[in-house]
Amino acid sequence: ITCNYDGYFKYHTDIGEGAFIGSNSALVAPVNIGDGAIIGAGSVITSVVENDALAIARGKQRQLGGWAAKFRDDKKAKKMIMCGIIGIISGSNVADRIVEGLRRLEYRGYDSAGVATLFDGNTIDRRRAKGKLINLENELESRALPGFVGIGHTRWATHGEPTVANAHPHASEKVAVVHNGIIENFRELREKLSTKGHSFNTQTDTETIVHLITDFIDQGLNARDAAKAALSELEGAFALAIIFEGEEDLMIGARRGSPLVLGYGDGEMYLGSDAIALSHLTDKISYLDEGDRVEISRNSAQVFDENGAEVD
Ligand code: GLU
Repeated sequence: ITCNYDGYFKYHTDIGEGAFIGSNSALVAPVNIGDGAIIGAGSVITSVVENDALAIARGKQRQLGGWAAKFRDDKKAKKMIMCGIIGIISGSNVADRIVEGLRRLEYRGYDSAGVATLFDGNTIDRRRAKGKLINLENELESRALPGFVGIGHTRWATHGEPTVANAHPHASEKVAVVHNGIIENFRELREKLSTKGHSFNTQTDTETIVHLITDFIDQGLNARDAAKAALSELEGAFALAIIFEGEEDLMIGARRGSPLVLGYGDGEMYLGSDAIALSHLTDKISYLDEGDRVEISRNSAQVFDENGAEVD
């Protein structure tokens, strides 16, 4: 088992319960070997192996020219590859499928996880847990989380301890947010919002986004405009997925510095940190460009570039 170090951080290798690793195999992090999976002897495993799958990899060496240098030179690389995001807007319950997406993102590493949905198409509710996804699954089993619109997150803490309170999604009554990356001006925003009467319950930079959007909604802006206004005040690197109280057919995504993928389903739409997160849902995906904001409903997606112009 190798612990792969890319110059920024060490990747994990996770081996699921009951997995069988054949002799002379190499597991090259970041990999996640699913529960009950079998690795054929002599394999070099370099990507996620699903639960109960048989994986054999004895291929010949391949290489991508220039990749390492590009990665090393990218000062934002660390911020870009943290944590996982998935969002589903659908006509049926989404929590289980969100957790399944988070499982596919486990290879990135994380310290806690959570899901938020719109209950009855109206009220925001959420479940969060520290540690492995199984803890979140247990939480969901003891307290179900129905809802046709939802967002999920695996967190790699940058601001605040890995606790349940600091786990995403962060939420007010009006909005819930999952965030990958770092909001660099969160202190100024937090101070400003505190003087306006917002009280903060976590140590995260992410919570400022929740209060900022809520504040714009309180000022009378609709969900779309409130998110747009809030995004224009954020500095740093981020990917976001946002849902709103009473907005059953709306989810907003945005990316700056961190990747975000848009997925198209049949009467459903998805957001994810990468294509793997959505691989159980669709293979019709498009990558958002730097600075993009997207407003999705069950049947459509409108993408806006960093200047606010609609993109085809
Ligand atoms: N900065 C956020 C936090 O500490 C998000 C970290 C992440 O990308 O997981 O909660």
